[in-house]
Amino acid sequence: MTQPRAHKEGVWQEDPKPTFMPEVSDAAKITVKKTFFKHEVTVKGNCPYCFGETEFVYSMKVIPSMLGATVGQGHGEVDITVACRCSHEHEGAPPGELGCGQSWTITLQEN
Ligand SMILES: [Zn+2]
Ligand SMILES: [Zn+2]
Repeated sequence: MTQPRAHKEGVWQEDPKPTFMPEVSDAAKITVKKTFFKHEVTVKGNCPYCFGETEFVYSMKVIPSMLGATVGQGHGEVDITVACRCSHEHEGAPPGELGCGQSWTITLQEN
């Protein structure tokens, strides 16, 4: 178990971005709910920028793999852009906007 980190109060969409903590992003729980038409990916964990607890749901349309698809399309690897949805108020965030305004990419291995 990793020690929970204290939430970092920072301005919304801080530029330059705060330090990205890959181990925080890697610790996120990723669950995939598969239906016939789409895959719903839920990423639950802490934001690698502000360490706030975040839960992000991403819907992927299922595209059937085609015969003769280009080589090098990867083996079911999907990049997902996750946006911070922490419940903290970050300075400068638009009203009703949750999170620190940062987003990051995770690679989902589908098998
Ligand atoms: Zn955040
Ligand atoms: Zn935050």
